[in-house]
Amino acid sequence: MAQNPLTQYFRQPKVFIALPSRGAYNSPTAFSGDVNHLPVFGMTGMDEIIAKTPDALLTGESTVKIITSCCPAITNPWELTTIDLDTVLTAIRIATYGNELDVDNVCDKCGTHAEYTFNLSNFVEYYANVKYDNKIVLGDLTINLKPLNYRQSSDFAQSNFQLQQRLRQINELESEEERSKLLANIYEDLAKLQNEIFIAGIDSISTRESTVTEHGFIREWVENADSKYIADIRTKVNTNQETWRSPDQTVECETCGNKTSLVISLDQADFFVGA
Ligand SMILES: [Zn+2]
Repeated sequence: MAQNPLTQYFRQPKVFIALPSRGAYNSPTAFSGDVNHLPVFGMTGMDEIIAKTPDALLTGESTVKIITSCCPAITNPWELTTIDLDTVLTAIRIATYGNELDVDNVCDKCGTHAEYTFNLSNFVEYYANVKYDNKIVLGDLTINLKPLNYRQSSDFAQSNFQLQQRLRQINELESEEERSKLLANIYEDLAKLQNEIFIAGIDSISTRESTVTEHGFIREWVENADSKYIADIRTKVNTNQETWRSPDQTVECETCGNKTSLVISLDQADFFVGA
């Protein structure tokens, strides 16, 4: 086929980002470039249509398609860690619609409606400067943690969604007896899911002699360890989660001066829609 004279008018990378993880916790094949300088393109018209399809978003498929289109250097977006995900999505938003994000809020004191504008590059900067603390020493053991990848996090979110749906259905049942029986089951399933997520977050455990990476061995240890150890790991995991959440933004109502903390959600359909 002849060379398309329009090629030079194709979209160009608008933003370059460093992955906050610097590619740690990933196989080198998950990227085809410099993790400190990945090009990010704005969305195409097709990407926008995908972004606006709410059903597919739950499975993560749409997000993966959009990342593949806008960050071709990320060869397998499912492998991307959750600590890199927000940076990548924010950069795509910047490359497509610019740096500003408008968020509506109604003051819960006086009811004044206002629109606030946030600078998205501040979020990228924030993630570039926070640390993922991946080690915890418990006596002779060093527990090495890792952030979940997008595949794991989507699968867990979906399992959780299904359990919550079942929970809702059970709560609507007439029979008290049947309800309490089914509730016991579902709380057990929820606890199991929590445990799976916990185990998935442990990369390896080092003893004085060796490092254990075998998933089954780690699971066995978790099931047989002192609860104090598990609590310590949980605390560390929670601290990491807090650190890697998008930072709350404090806004002040112009009418009454009331201050509100807004959570800016970055992995959501509405984040990509209607700029
Ligand atoms: Zn107010």
